[in-house]
Order: sequence, then structure tokens, then C-alpha cells
Amino acid sequence: MDLITDPANFYARCLSLRAAGSLGLVPTMGALHAGHLALVAASRRRDAATVATIFVNPTQFGPREDFARYPRQLQRDGELLQEAGVQVVFAPAPEAIYAGDAQTRVDVGDLATRLCGASRPGHFAGVATIVLKLLHLAAPTHAYFGQKDAAQVAVLRRMVRDLNVPVELVVEPIVRDADGLALSSRNAYLGAGERRQALALVGALRAVAAAVGRGERNPAAALEAGHRGLDAVPGVALEYLAAVDADTLLPVTEIGPGTLVAVAARVGTTRLIDNLILADSSSADSSSADPGASA
Ligand code: AMP
Repeated sequence: MDLITDPANFYARCLSLRAAGSLGLVPTMGALHAGHLALVAASRRRDAATVATIFVNPTQFGPREDFARYPRQLQRDGELLQEAGVQVVFAPAPEAIYAGDAQTRVDVGDLATRLCGASRPGHFAGVATIVLKLLHLAAPTHAYFGQKDAAQVAVLRRMVRDLNVPVELVVEPIVRDADGLALSSRNAYLGAGERRQALALVGALRAVAAAVGRGERNPAAALEAGHRGLDAVPGVALEYLAAVDADTLLPVTEIGPGTLVAVAARVGTTRLIDNLILADSSSADSSSADPGASA
């Protein structure tokens, strides 16, 4: 496995890998866990070669967010990616990616203001911009993202469609701990008590799914079931619990199969997100309605 920090070298290496067949790109911010490695495994199953990127992207963090303290553990990440069978890891310094006077941004329109975008102005423009840059550098046939960041998926699908980016986006399910907590690099910030409180997020999603499973179709009523559990847990400050269309991120008027139920909350000082897409109750596989089932 090669560790590359220079964008031109990364471009050249990806060009030659792609000549041998399909190429998968797995963009990450590092501090890798099983959720990231599931994306790598998906690419390894499908593509002739897999490249991963590790870049804590400054332009997607707000001025009072955790850019400076975001966990960085390049050596361990490199070992994990090598074991996982990745051919190339690209881990550039910010100065290698952004010119000091860089001005160009990808504007994804109203989508950027919904869900997390409402409280994180500029976040999705930062995400779309870095992902487009990485897609240009790697020119992969497939790029892999986690359903964990559901709004990010909607933003990137829209960008790829609107800008005719020649890549297929592949979205993989959320990987969870055995107790249901969605894996996140930010879980490392949680103390033991906070780790327990953080289960309120998945608990709220399950409560909404259960209400819909009992036949509730009114979004406000179904979400109320989630709010009841969240309100009962001290130390959890809810940012949003919403039932939205997975593509537009706009609130649905009727909640049911296919609806994206998304939650964001602060546990202590740590901001966490989670979501599920409600399954079709008539389908034999209802695992996506039960976040605990995909551990
Ligand atoms: P990050 O390093 O947090 O930017 O995440 C890199 C990629 O891994 C994104 O596409 C995330 O959606 C995905 N990811 C993060 N956590 C999980 C998880 N628990 N399950 C599946 N994918 C995940």
C-alpha cells in the first residue's frame, strides 16, 4: 500500500489503477472505525482497486466547531487500511489541497440549508467542494459513502447529477455498536456516562419507527413518540428530530416507508447525528426500520 500526500502523484497513481479496471474511492476524515472499513470492504468486493483518502477538511467546519481537536491517528489508520486491502491512501496537508486564495465553492442550493445545514452554514458547500476535488483527482468509477450522513448523501447525489460527474455513488448502511449506537469518530469524545446518554438518539429513531409500525401516518404524532424518549434523558440537547424526503430533505406530509427519520443532538459538548429510512412494513426485510439490527 502506498501513502501519498501529493495531489499530482495521487492523480497519476489513480489513473494507472483505473486502467486496470474499476476503481473505488472511499473518502474519510480518518480516525477510522468499522463504518469506514465497511465502505472499503464494499469497494473491495466490487472494484479492481480501492483507494481511500484521509483528510480533515477545514472548509466543512465552522469557526466554533471541532476542527482543531478532531481525532488524527494517521499511522493506525494506515495500518487498518493496509489490512483491509486498500492500494493507495491519500492523506494530503490542507495547503496541498487548497490554494491560499482559493475562492471556488460548490453551491448545492437549498439542500445545503436543511437538516444539519440549518445550524452549520457552509458545511455542505465545504463537503461538496472537497468531494468534487477528490473525485477529480481520483477519477474513480465508484465512490463509497455511508448512510450515516444521510443529508451528505442527498447533497452529493444532487451534485453528481447536476454537474454530470462521471461516477457512481454507492451508499452503504450504517454500522452500529451492539447496543445500537451508530459508530462515529466523534464517539471518542464521549465519557462513559455520555456514551449511555447518546443511546437516546437511536432510541428516538426506534420510537418513531415503532409508532409508524403501529400505523401512525401523521409525522408530528410519530415524531412525538421520539421526543418523549429524548426529553427524558438528561444531558442530551436536541437539535432536530425530523421526518423528511431522503432526496429533497424537506419534511414529509405523511410518514411511511421510504421516509428518512433523522436526528441531531449534543451530548455534553459532542454533536452526534443518526438516522434511519423507514422500511416497507410489507417487506420481509425490515432491518432498516430497526437500527439495532444492523450492528
Ligand atoms: P467521516 O470520516 O466521518 O467523514 O466519514 C467518512 C465516510 O464514512 C462517510 O461516507 C460516512 O458517512 C461514513 N461513515 C461514518 N460512520 C459510519 C457508520 N457508522 N456506518 C457507515 N458509514 C459510516
